[in-house]
Amino acid sequence: MIEIKKTERNLNQLPSLALIVPCYNESETIAFCSEKLNEILELLIHKKKIAQTSYILFVDDGSKDSTWEDIKQLSLKCNKIWGLKLSGNRGQQTAMIAGLVFVDVDINITIDADLQDNIACIEQMVEKYLQGAEIVYGVRNDRSNDHFLKRFTAHTFYSVMNYLGVNQIPNHSEFRLLSKYVTQCFLKYTEKNIYIRGIISSTGFKTDKVYYSRKKRFAGETKYSFWKLINLAIEAITSFSVIPLRIISFLGIFTCIFSVFAMIYSLLSKLYDIAIPGWTSTTLSIFFLCGVQLLSLGVIGEYIGKIYIEVKNRPRYFIEEMIKNKS
Ligand code: UDP
Ligand code: MG
Repeated sequence: MIEIKKTERNLNQLPSLALIVPCYNESETIAFCSEKLNEILELLIHKKKIAQTSYILFVDDGSKDSTWEDIKQLSLKCNKIWGLKLSGNRGQQTAMIAGLVFVDVDINITIDADLQDNIACIEQMVEKYLQGAEIVYGVRNDRSNDHFLKRFTAHTFYSVMNYLGVNQIPNHSEFRLLSKYVTQCFLKYTEKNIYIRGIISSTGFKTDKVYYSRKKRFAGETKYSFWKLINLAIEAITSFSVIPLRIISFLGIFTCIFSVFAMIYSLLSKLYDIAIPGWTSTTLSIFFLCGVQLLSLGVIGEYIGKIYIEVKNRPRYFIEEMIKNKS
């Protein structure tokens, strides 16, 4: 019997690596970022861990500043720098997907342009891949560099996701290595409302982790406001679970049971003549029930909105320009 493993690798050849960097208004960071990532690539090539054909792919997510011009300039100076320009701002996740679709390499690593993630881990990630892992997660071992609000929202988000049964790696953002085969599997998920971290961890291939402490941004500022983070969390939850809809049903059942008791109570109080015409209780219950109903409609609306987006099946992004260099 011939056993064929889908994830089999060609051991006679060094793996080619692409570092995928989504960028949105990163003109302040891009030069330093490309210099540092290039150093790492050269080091790994020198150590014979990756192929000479490896490169860095900057995906410009419709920046409004000079990011794309900077990428072009950098690519003229160094043939290891490639670029992809999306026609508009589609968000970090879509920019990463555009990069994953574009690259044709044995392994890719996604990393932010601000180098908050420890680039020294790239070598460890490649080593873990060479030892057999198909996915290697960069995991933060502390959150001391985050402000209170971000720590709190992150903690609540992971707890909710965990409760909803979404299996994901806590304290892992988008710093991650994927093998070619896992990338191909991931790209089979064609839904528009996609939460990459959740999907990757649900694919079930052999994984490993590298731990690091996340630094502060060395320049520029975060592209994630509080509301953008909340939106991301709602997207993630509703793209993975219908439990919020079930919670609404339970809420409805409990409210009905409660109202039966309330009805019995009010009938008895009428019968025994102890009914006090209560304005407060009436208004309170109206407010409460209106709130519950509006919230429930909102949750249902979220899901209907998702169906609407998926049914339209619009393209995720358009590529305006690309730079491919020969290695
Ligand atoms: N980013 C992007 N599109 C966006 C927002 C962000 O490509 O709409 C990129 C950004 O340029 C950076 C990475 O995603 O390389 C992470 O963004 P940021 O550092 O602002 O996030 P934070 O580290 O604050 O969570
Ligand atoms: Mg950052």
